[in-house]
Amino acid sequence: EKEALRIYRDLEPTLDDGTVIEVAANLGATEEIEAAQEAGAMGIGLFRTELLFMRHTHLPSEDMQYDVYKQLVEAFPKHSVIVRTLDIGGDKPIAGIEFPSEENPFLGWRGIRMCLERPDMFKMQLRALLRAAVHGNLKVMLPMISTVDEIERTERLIEECRQELKEKRIAFGDFALGVMIETPAAVLIAPMLAKKAAFFSIGTNDLTQYIMAADRLNPAVAGLNDVTNPAVMAAIEMVAKAGRQAGIMVGMCGEAAGRPDLIPEFVRFGLTELSMSPASIPRAKRTLSELGKKSAA
Ligand code: PEP
Ligand code: MG
Repeated sequence: EKEALRIYRDLEPTLDDGTVIEVAANLGATEEIEAAQEAGAMGIGLFRTELLFMRHTHLPSEDMQYDVYKQLVEAFPKHSVIVRTLDIGGDKPIAGIEFPSEENPFLGWRGIRMCLERPDMFKMQLRALLRAAVHGNLKVMLPMISTVDEIERTERLIEECRQELKEKRIAFGDFALGVMIETPAAVLIAPMLAKKAAFFSIGTNDLTQYIMAADRLNPAVAGLNDVTNPAVMAAIEMVAKAGRQAGIMVGMCGEAAGRPDLIPEFVRFGLTELSMSPASIPRAKRTLSELGKKSAA
């Protein structure tokens, strides 16, 4: 099957109306770039920066992060690369940050919530991203968004970073700033978020656990942790609609994005980007190409 799927590597899935569906890769480290390229990834839809922070015994410096982000955009000159800002929580400690112990880490001080309260660390990442934007089509997205205010506060920090780089005469570019939709709050205020965000990426892993109120790591409630539950699918459809109405791109980067059984439904909702682990890409491309054929017949 692997051989048979190779023919899809260079395919850019296109719908009857001419819409191209970006099939992108989820990556956690630069070591995975080659596998993504081999699989036919049309850019990166989610680069998780957690490993970068967890790998070291100290916080990664601005220069070190810059090198990593630059390497990513240079690896995909024809496509966009979406880097997600640090999404770490009380359950995953990193060197250099003190985490309080929490009863409910998944409902706690994680992702954008933590970053906004550690502006020195957050700005180091944002400056590295602004600098890397010079080298390609970089986009940045914020995890765990649940209020409009979180985007506005991040925008203010980005503006400060621009001023700082200007003062130091360090070259920098610009990136589109998008948000992950992975909390029920974000779904419900999607039309408001769409006025501030350049794009949406639906994180079905967290969105499912939060909508169903079922811990994604607890096997006792695994049955509820199902993206095909009508409540979750309705949320995805709502987000796609809100994004479409505001004219912004809506993609998906949770595990569900790579499921051939669900891809036709997601495309019908209006998602135009699906990001998944490299291993899922060939099959997803095949599913999308068959979709086009079926409607043409
Ligand atoms: C998600 O929640 O769907 C997602 C893509 O992010 P992560 O799995 O890293 O939480
Ligand atoms: Mg998530």
